[in-house]
Amino acid sequence: MTSSAHLHTCGVGQNYLVFDPQGRVAKCQMQMHVPISDAWAEDPLRVLRTDRIGVQNISVEEKEGCRQCPWRYWCAGGCPLETFRITGRYDVKSPNCNIYRALFPEALRLEGLRLLKYQDDPEVVERLVLSMPAQDHP
Ligand code: SF4
Repeated sequence: MTSSAHLHTCGVGQNYLVFDPQGRVAKCQMQMHVPISDAWAEDPLRVLRTDRIGVQNISVEEKEGCRQCPWRYWCAGGCPLETFRITGRYDVKSPNCNIYRALFPEALRLEGLRLLKYQDDPEVVERLVLSMPAQDHP
């Protein structure tokens, strides 16, 4: 989980490359057996970004079941590969959704307690608040 608002759970297919010792390039470390490019390609990242066969990392705003979720910009819908392995689809919420929905309120509560602990130190509070994701739901 990252600490700022985001649309994708990870950088797969966008800004993430994984090289194996032979120079083959995969989109994800869980897909080393499915190389998409190699270190000798002119632009392996471009190849990964345009690939439509391997793991697809779509925006949480496009995932069925996530669009109205108050945690969507923290969770981003979960690991796309795991979701695909369980559901056969990339455009649906994570099979771990119930776990995330149970954990996020607790994480938020703990963050609130952390803020309270430092409430008498405005410098620390400002730094903590600035590092929190923007929320458009209560
Ligand atoms: S908690 Fe569930 S519904 Fe909300 S963004 Fe994550 S997977 Fe989607």
